[in-house]
Amino acid sequence: MIAKRTIENLDAAAVLGRRALVRVDFNVPIKDGKVTDDTRLRAAIPTIEDLKDRGARIVLLSHLGRPKGGPDPKYSLKPVVAALERLLGMPVAFIADPAAPAAVELTKQLPRGAVALVENTRFLPGEERNDVATARMLATLGDFYVNDAFGSAHRAHASTEAVAHLLKPAVAGLLMEKELEYLGGALTSPRRPFVAVLGGAKISGKIDVIRNLLPKVDRILIGGAMANTFFRAKGAATGASLVEEDRIAMAKELLERAGAKLALPTGGVIAPSLERAGENREAAWNAVPDGWAMYDIDAATERAFAGIVAGAKTVVWNGPMGVFETPPFDHGTVAVAKALAAATAAGATTVVGGGDSAAAIEQAGLAGKVSHVSTGGGASLEFLEGKVLPGVAALDDRTP
Ligand code: ADP
Ligand code: MG
Repeated sequence: MIAKRTIENLDAAAVLGRRALVRVDFNVPIKDGKVTDDTRLRAAIPTIEDLKDRGARIVLLSHLGRPKGGPDPKYSLKPVVAALERLLGMPVAFIADPAAPAAVELTKQLPRGAVALVENTRFLPGEERNDVATARMLATLGDFYVNDAFGSAHRAHASTEAVAHLLKPAVAGLLMEKELEYLGGALTSPRRPFVAVLGGAKISGKIDVIRNLLPKVDRILIGGAMANTFFRAKGAATGASLVEEDRIAMAKELLERAGAKLALPTGGVIAPSLERAGENREAAWNAVPDGWAMYDIDAATERAFAGIVAGAKTVVWNGPMGVFETPPFDHGTVAVAKALAAATAAGATTVVGGGDSAAAIEQAGLAGKVSHVSTGGGASLEFLEGKVLPGVAALDDRTP
């Protein structure tokens, strides 16, 4: 378990009247100057409210989209101000240029409990280079540093990594803490049986996840397109299913290494194409006709996977079981989501990581019925791969 110091470990004097420089993940979708999905804003509210209640002056930093290292109005964080004001029920100041001397003045004159948002950190040429001078400039905007942007923690950028070495204390926010607690807890001290459910499009993107999880889990259940590559490794024809030809040997090796730990679907739902979804039918794993593709796990596999999940005390799920964007191929994914919800109700700890998996469980209306849905797509994947996230590593360790 990565024990990092958090805002809860800061005593009152370290917070009251002090400027908290808080890295959040406000990388939200914006259309016609309006935030169209405020999930990420809401995820940061507990940390902002906590600091506000304790009398800090709060300065928020975030990136948005992928501007090319310079200001681009298309990627301005300005539209986030109104959305944030609505959520907080108070005005939010905007700092268009953090490098201007007026910016430091503004942060110092913020009343206790007030909030300011800094323009997109990726407008700064040094941000993505993890440039120390850029970090030093950012550090002038606060008296201590808080990182609540788990979704950006896998990138060593000036606002996530370098600044955490310059501005102390550097601590985790409440969302970051929750992510580390659930993802970290599952990986380092899972209650057993510990079951991983993996799916999604490509085995290539998940090999390191499988490798890292294999020695830790009791069972690993594979669905989604990546199952097809395993079917090929077992000698089956897979028709027009999505297969990574160059990973078949790798899949073979993983199958041998995993033995009975790894469970593959016994059958799937096939169709001639996504456009011809209406012609779907079930087929055994090794009986996919030429020209047909497997787009989901079948009912028997749903039941088998649900049964294994039901017996688990810890479940980590990453990757949809099928093409969940195109019904009826969402059925297997929804079945797994329901299985996780049922396991949670029965006392298991259940964690969902990955952008599409999070979207799928949200779509199924079950996001609130699992222990934790990670807000970090790429970051949660790297975490499951066992990698050290630079934005986490740079934070202060918790001292006993
Ligand atoms: P996550 O974002 O949760 O890590 P991935 O990005 O790895 O998940 O995979 C999600 C994608 O996998 C979805 O777009 C889904 O349509 C696709 N997918 C899942 N199963 C299949 C399949 N059998 N054939 C083709 N695509 C699939
Ligand atoms: Mg994805």
